[in-house]
Amino acid sequence: MSKDALQALRLELGRRAAIAVDRALAVEPAGSLPEPWRQLLESLQVTPLPEQQRYASVQRDRFHRGAPTEELRACLEAISGGARHELAGLSVDDALRHRAHGLLDAVVEQTLARYRDEAAAAPAGGMFGFAMASAQRKAAARAPANKTYALRCPHCGAVRLRPEDLRCEFCDGKTTLA
Ligand SMILES: [Zn+2]
Repeated sequence: MSKDALQALRLELGRRAAIAVDRALAVEPAGSLPEPWRQLLESLQVTPLPEQQRYASVQRDRFHRGAPTEELRACLEAISGGARHELAGLSVDDALRHRAHGLLDAVVEQTLARYRDEAAAAPAGGMFGFAMASAQRKAAARAPANKTYALRCPHCGAVRLRPEDLRCEFCDGKTTLA
């Protein structure tokens, strides 16, 4: 008990945060409530915003796509809170626990910051822009030296909390920018 359990917890945290961000970004038109997003909210016991507030929120944030920031925040807080609860039950030394708490503190705000940038980015290429961008991201994931790495860890798929940091905070994998 242990480092392995802690590592599993970190990976799961990164994976769940990435799923939430992916589903939030897939919400189109911005502020709508498609079924996959509604289901994620339900699974995390997050109440959707009332309709008027959803659209006011995405307008305020100038989103071209995506779920309201408030909803993703509530999801990330639920995910982080669940991991915090699990961490409390692990017997790990203080240094590792401290580091894990730092990650739990960072995951909500830093994931939201990345999300807001992505959701507000104008689509390139008109109505097929997002589909194209998605295909390009997949292609880029197979090739090194792409800014895609700013968003996802190529090793574990977690969101990148600090794109300028080459080490993934969830799996410790290094991104090579050469
Ligand atoms: Zn990783």
